[in-house]
Amino acid sequence: MAQSKDHAIRMNDGNKIPVLGFGTYSPDDAEKSKCEEATKIAIEVGFRHIDCAYLYNTEEQVGRAVREKIADGTVKREDIFYTGKLWSTFYRPELVQTCLEQSLKKLQFDYMDLFIIHNPYALQPGPNPLPLGENGKLIYDNVDLRQTWEAMEACKDAGLVKSIGVSNFNRQQLEMILSKPGLKYKPVLNQVESHPYLNQSKMLAFCKSKDILLEAYSALGSQRNAAWLNKETPVLLEDPLLAAIAKKYNRSPALVALRYQLQRGLVVLVKSFTKNQIEENIQVFDFHLSQEDMKSIDGLHRNQRYLKVDAFFGHPQYLPLDED
Ligand code: NAD
Repeated sequence: MAQSKDHAIRMNDGNKIPVLGFGTYSPDDAEKSKCEEATKIAIEVGFRHIDCAYLYNTEEQVGRAVREKIADGTVKREDIFYTGKLWSTFYRPELVQTCLEQSLKKLQFDYMDLFIIHNPYALQPGPNPLPLGENGKLIYDNVDLRQTWEAMEACKDAGLVKSIGVSNFNRQQLEMILSKPGLKYKPVLNQVESHPYLNQSKMLAFCKSKDILLEAYSALGSQRNAAWLNKETPVLLEDPLLAAIAKKYNRSPALVALRYQLQRGLVVLVKSFTKNQIEENIQVFDFHLSQEDMKSIDGLHRNQRYLKVDAFFGHPQYLPLDED
C-alpha cells in the first residue's frame, strides 16, 4: 500500500483513495452555509477527497462546490473522491439504494466513489433521521447488517458506487461481515474516531491483517460540539507534547496530529471551514515525523473518546466499542 505521488493508496478492491480527506460535517446550521465556499477552497488548495453523509445536510452545498470546480476547469469528476454514508433509517435492505439515490440527487452526481454504512445501528425507517419515541429516546430497528451489506454490494454492482465500506464498526461487527457466507466484496475501510488520545492501534492491526484500511475522523479532537462531546475531555490541540513536537518541526499541533495518522498508514479526515486552516492542513505532505516522535505521540494514547455513543446503548444489536 505504498503512497503514490498523488497521495493516494490502493484499497482491497483495486480502487485508490486519497489519504487526506476534507470533512464536511457541521452541527451548526449557520455554519453549514459556509460549507460550499469551504469545499471550493479545499479543492483549490489541493484536497481531492471529500467526506460527507446523508445525515450532515451538506450534500447540496458539497455537490454544488464540486460541480463549480469542474465547470471552471480546476478538476474533473474523476479527480475527486467523494464519500457518502448510508444513514441508520435506511438499513433495511430494500431501503439502501433509496438512501443512495436521494444523496446522489442532492449532489447531482452520477456515482459516489465510496459509500459506507454510517454506524452499526439501525433506526426506525421514516422521514425523521433521528426518530424519537414518547420517552425522548431513539426508536431502534432490528436489521441483520449482513443483509444491509448485500444491498451495499448490489449498489456497487449497479455502478452507483465504486467502493463500499463501513464506519464505527468494532472488530466483532467487522468479522460478522467478513465471515458472511457468499460475501462478494469486503469493506474497503472502516472509518472510526482516531487521534493521539485514541490511536486505535488494535483496530489498525486487525484491519491491516484483513487488507482493510482504517480511516480516522475527529483526528484533531473533534469540533467539541456540546451535543456530541463527552464532557470534561481535554482539548487535544492544547496537549503540551503535541505543542513541543510541533515547535520542533515549525508546524502546528494540528498538522502534527494529521501527519501522525498518515505515517501509521491511516487515511485521515480533517474538517475546517476556515480558509487559513484549510490551506494549512494540505501542508501535511510537506514534512516527516521521526520514528522517535511517532513513538512519543503513541505514548499519548489514553482510550479517550470525544464522541458520545450512549444514544445506542439500548439498541438490540449494541456491542461496546473496543478498548484499545
Ligand atoms: P476534526 O477533528 O477534523 O476538526 C476539529 C476542529 O479542528 C474543527 O472545528 C476545526 O475548526 C479545527 N481545525 C481544523 N484545522 C485546524 C488547524 N489547522 N488548526 C487549528 N484548528 C483546526 O473534526 P470532525 O468534524 O470531528 O472530524 C472530521 C470529519 O470526519 C467530519 O467533518 C466528518 O466528515 C467525519 N466524521 C465522521 C463521523 C462518523 O461517524 N463516521 C463522525 C465524526 C466526524
